Amino acid sequence: MLHVVVRPVLACRAGLWHSRRGLATAADPYEVVVIGGGPGGYVAAIKAAQMGLKTACIEKRGSLGGTCLNVGCIPSKAMLNNSHIYHQTLHDIQSRGIDASGVSLNLPNMLKAKEKAVTALTKGIEVLFKQDGVDYIKGAASFVSPNKLSVKLLDGGETEVDAKNIIIATGSEVIPFPGGAIEIDEKQIVSSTGALDLQKVPGKMAVIGGGIIGLELGSVWSRLGAEVTVIEFLGAIGGAGIDEEIAKQFQRTLSKQGLKFKVNTKVTGAEKKDGKIYLSTESAKDGKVDSVEADIVLVAIGRRPYTTGLNIEAIGLEMDNRGRVVIDSQFNTSVPNVKCIGDVTFGPMLAHKAEDEGIAAAEYIKSGHGHVNYDAIPAVVYTHPEVAWVGKTEQELKEAGVKYNIGKFNFMANSRAKTNSDTDGFVKILAEKETDRILGVHIMGPNAGEMIAEGVLAVEYGASSEDVARTTHAHPTLSEAFKEACMAASSRPIHM
Ligand SMILES: Cc1cc2nc3c(=O)[nH]c(=O)nc-3n(C[C@H](O)[C@H](O)[C@H](O)COP(=O)(O)OP(=O)(O)OC[C@H]3O[C@@H](n4cnc5c(N)ncnc54)[C@H](O)[C@@H]3O)c2cc1C
Repeated sequence: MLHVVVRPVLACRAGLWHSRRGLATAADPYEVVVIGGGPGGYVAAIKAAQMGLKTACIEKRGSLGGTCLNVGCIPSKAMLNNSHIYHQTLHDIQSRGIDASGVSLNLPNMLKAKEKAVTALTKGIEVLFKQDGVDYIKGAASFVSPNKLSVKLLDGGETEVDAKNIIIATGSEVIPFPGGAIEIDEKQIVSSTGALDLQKVPGKMAVIGGGIIGLELGSVWSRLGAEVTVIEFLGAIGGAGIDEEIAKQFQRTLSKQGLKFKVNTKVTGAEKKDGKIYLSTESAKDGKVDSVEADIVLVAIGRRPYTTGLNIEAIGLEMDNRGRVVIDSQFNTSVPNVKCIGDVTFGPMLAHKAEDEGIAAAEYIKSGHGHVNYDAIPAVVYTHPEVAWVGKTEQELKEAGVKYNIGKFNFMANSRAKTNSDTDGFVKILAEKETDRILGVHIMGPNAGEMIAEGVLAVEYGASSEDVARTTHAHPTLSEAFKEACMAASSRPIHM
């Protein structure tokens, strides 16, 4: 049994003398301690423990899974899935030969279904921790030294944890509106967290930011009956990495679904009056001012790295000017034996990127080898239709002076999409002209988020478009559109 190091003074003061699990001490330190139990941190901890390293994960939220499982990927996908079913039941199923009457929204139950999914998955990680022997320490960690952390325990008291290696995986937080001109109150002016928990469908909703989160949550509330206006500073929606051609068609498709867009438009302020919010806007093109009325405003202008309370000054951790922890290609920070992964460092803020970094960082600690291919990280917008991509966009290839072939295939010509009456969108393959190697895959269409896995595999393994075109795809499936787009890139498609 290891030594319990709850500081008696604090624990006494709080009147809390719980029996605690022994935590590693300087005499017997952990080999790996991970700060943060999000997709980066919990995966790193499990991988390290699976490789036989004595591991602990410190999480201050009170539940594992981080942003993704608690207030991000999972609750948003629950709301997207269930709002889609509701919308489809109201507007689509009659043409499919299904008559339904008395269909109505039960928002409290839809929110409960979301919570049920979140609880099942976050609790599931606790089970995995037990199974793999990861010590779960509930509390907020801060550095005392590069090998020692102080933890303010959630159930009171404080402890110190010693570690040979520490992995920082503290994630990200919502970026507030610049200059404090619009303050998020999570009631009427909400971040994504508040937008996932609105207790009433707003009459009018304004979404500041047309990136992935803004479009997903805008879609949810639009399907549930809100009049949604998305205001985007740039000329296109979809955020960083989206192919321009896809972005244009995506905007047209979402507009047909009822979302309104004001692109090239800057929000300059907000005024609350008579229960409403009036956003003042300015055209980024000609400076023309306007106003958007809303009952609820969602601020979705991005996320920033989170290191609050970590006491990084104690170890002199190097950060860049955007608040990201600086790392090398092996996730080493400027401080020996301290690594960093996920949203809090470089790269796209995506759960699967954080997870893969978690595995690689643990492997580097164990064996000195790890691998993440940053050219093959997919991105998905889980609207309907979905949008997904991996690799280079056409604009990036042009800028880099790379010669390429394009292969495209419309879902309109795909038998399964036609059978399902779900034909919006297309697959676009970008293959290097000289070698036919697939450099980018861009899909807008039903199940694009599942189909992109084939594109990721093709990019990871350096497949040519002909390789994929000559690979048998089951019929009738949506993925035949992927094959036909590859045929189009390397020779000609059959069905278009
Ligand atoms: C609305 C929304 C939808 C999203 N949808 C998707 C999606 O569909 N797909 C996708 O790939 N990504 C999605 N994301 C992004 C995804 O959630 C993040 O990229 C991912 O969670 C990052 O993982 P992480 O482990 O780096 O950090 P996080 O998940 O942020 O976890 C960090 C954890 O560290 C804890 N922590 C911080 N400081 C301390 C400390 N000092 N001591 C102890 N614990 C600490 C925090 O409490 C937190 O739980 C979404 C995000 C949002 C907001």
